[in-house]
Amino acid sequence: MNFFSIKEVRELLDRHGFSFRKSLGQNFITKQWIPEQIVSASGINRDHGVLEIGPGIGTLTKSLCDSAGKVTCLEVDDRLLPVLNETLAGADNLIIRQGDVLKADLSEIVRDDLKGLTPVACANLPYYITTPVLERLFESRLFKQITVMVQKEVARRICASAGSPDYGAFTVFSQFYSRPEILFDVPASCFLPQPKVDSSVVIFHMHSDNPYGIEDEDLFFRIVRSSFAQRRKTLINGLISALPMKKDELLSIILSCGFRPDVRGETLSIESFAKITAKIAENLVNYEH
Ligand code: SAM
Repeated sequence: MNFFSIKEVRELLDRHGFSFRKSLGQNFITKQWIPEQIVSASGINRDHGVLEIGPGIGTLTKSLCDSAGKVTCLEVDDRLLPVLNETLAGADNLIIRQGDVLKADLSEIVRDDLKGLTPVACANLPYYITTPVLERLFESRLFKQITVMVQKEVARRICASAGSPDYGAFTVFSQFYSRPEILFDVPASCFLPQPKVDSSVVIFHMHSDNPYGIEDEDLFFRIVRSSFAQRRKTLINGLISALPMKKDELLSIILSCGFRPDVRGETLSIESFAKITAKIAENLVNYEH
């Protein structure tokens, strides 16, 4: 099976009576350099056990199987299972599972399928669930690295620096869990069917420790979300609506962290959010007693 011949792919899909579902974010890779570059830039080798989300007809899966120790792919669309069984028939280090990545027991997959290997995740993500999938992968803390293709604009947001227009709560969320890096861009013309926007491949090098020394993660994310909820608001006005604290107390915390009273959340680095979180946590103790 030549995954990169549009004619062969169309014949395969016709034979299986398959039609694309936009609602499932089905845009399949049609260029050979893409899976090759994803696998090589991710450094995937025989020591790695890969969870691939959304294999489609198996284009990226095939390259992953050629390099990794083991691969488990998880596809929600049961119409693609017979297709995958045909296109990947020769792969002896592959498990094909049917299921929804947002519901599947990922720790069971890692434990049972990828035993003894370094777990990593890889996907050309269905764009409609990019954020919840990444949240789930991050929070599971199961994977050493995660390589995903996402919309170019989302990749820019993930890797943004504090103060830039792309910087937001999702940037902080991503960089709390990892060091993200854009590997390369992929034009919309490289997919079947062709999406409206270009994509980028991002690798997340997951933090194994707590680099920002944040003790209360829930409080940290509450603070981050409220700081970005209305972008034009000052930090203090964002925080006041999310925390049971008086304005003058919040102001003295902001000043004691070395910021101006009218500082805006979108200019703060993760280190700064961590510093403010620690001070707020100390003060909240007074409210909880
Ligand atoms: N990996 C293939 C490729 O690159 O050519 C297909 C990528 S396509 C962008 C996304 C794939 O994810 C589709 O096969 C789609 O059916 C599948 N998918 C969509 N939602 C899913 C979910 N919740 N769980 C698992 N797979 C899903």
